[in-house]
Amino acid sequence: MIKFLDLYEINQRHKQELINAFERVIDSGWFIQGREVDAFEAEFAHYCGVQHCIGVANGLDALSLIIRAYKELGILTDGDEIIVPANTFIASILAISTNNLIPVLVEPDIHTYLINADVIQAHITSRTKAIMPVHLYGQLCDMEKIDRLAKQYGLKVIEDAAQAHGAVLSEQRAGKLGDAAGFSFYPGKNLGALGDGGAVTTNDAQLAEIVRTLANYGSSEKYHTQYKGVNSRLDEIQSALLRVKLQQLEADTAKRRAVAKRYLMEINNPKVILPENKATESHVWHLFVIRTANRDALQEYLQQAGVQTQIHYPIPPHKQEAYPEWHHLHFPVTEKIHREVLSLPMSPVLRQEEIDQLISLLNAY
Ligand SMILES: *Cc1c(COP(=O)(O)O)cnc(C)c1O
Repeated sequence: MIKFLDLYEINQRHKQELINAFERVIDSGWFIQGREVDAFEAEFAHYCGVQHCIGVANGLDALSLIIRAYKELGILTDGDEIIVPANTFIASILAISTNNLIPVLVEPDIHTYLINADVIQAHITSRTKAIMPVHLYGQLCDMEKIDRLAKQYGLKVIEDAAQAHGAVLSEQRAGKLGDAAGFSFYPGKNLGALGDGGAVTTNDAQLAEIVRTLANYGSSEKYHTQYKGVNSRLDEIQSALLRVKLQQLEADTAKRRAVAKRYLMEINNPKVILPENKATESHVWHLFVIRTANRDALQEYLQQAGVQTQIHYPIPPHKQEAYPEWHHLHFPVTEKIHREVLSLPMSPVLRQEEIDQLISLLNAY
């Protein structure tokens, strides 16, 4: 069996260091808002090249708290529109709509699966206040074009960097390519905790302060409540474990790139459409996503041969039960992507024999 993502193997590699980190926290007797989260925040901020990092409970909260903080600052208000790709994971959309703002869905590019920067402008209205580029599957969006539009129209740029830890563009990493960014440390992400976790990164000190306060009951001074906040903090335990895993991130990304390189060079079945990539460090290959006309048949073929694959994602946001107001909308590119995509096994622990086997299977299909 070739696993889609072998989380056992991924964490087993660092078992002793993880145990040591765990022990450090147990022995400290301090579990919330202590030294480990402070240290992780400083280390992750440094890694992303930003001034501020705030650990939060998960990636959805990271995005949601950025929006909440902009509302407290009076920069966003109920009913404002945020432009977001139509083919993203539902959390990007939820972060907007649960804050009473309106997600404006924009079609992606069929080759990169990323929001099509050339289509964004046509969707900008007087209500548009922000763009949320999603670095889907680990590849950076066209941030130069997005930045130019944001400047031209006075919009905030909120990166959904949940799949793109470490992706680089002109020596700038995901997390510092917009006004603020949300990261997820869900176990399967490129930087994964052993449970839920997330972070906000930004160079905006005022925004950072409000996010931190909102995430702690809206309180920056004990028992004084400035905002109607939430409880969304990154645990000491998860921070300590993430510090171990952050040290491995660059090496793991290099391994993911090596897997992707083999897939790109050696899969040559005309029925399989490979992802476009510019062979730069702007892709960290969270997922390796191909397209094929009869996706379910290919998935079944690989399953029979003992290869696990997944579909990211089977149902587009505008077809979700939670959003009946969008059911009448048509996004042909998005719908085609959702019908045709298949994610191949991708991880830093795939073995060469497994890659060999998968490539031969695909070429024989
Ligand atoms: C995982 C993910 C999220 C949400 O992160 P959680 O930690 O699971 O809440 C948001 N956006 C994208 C693109 C994701 O992949």
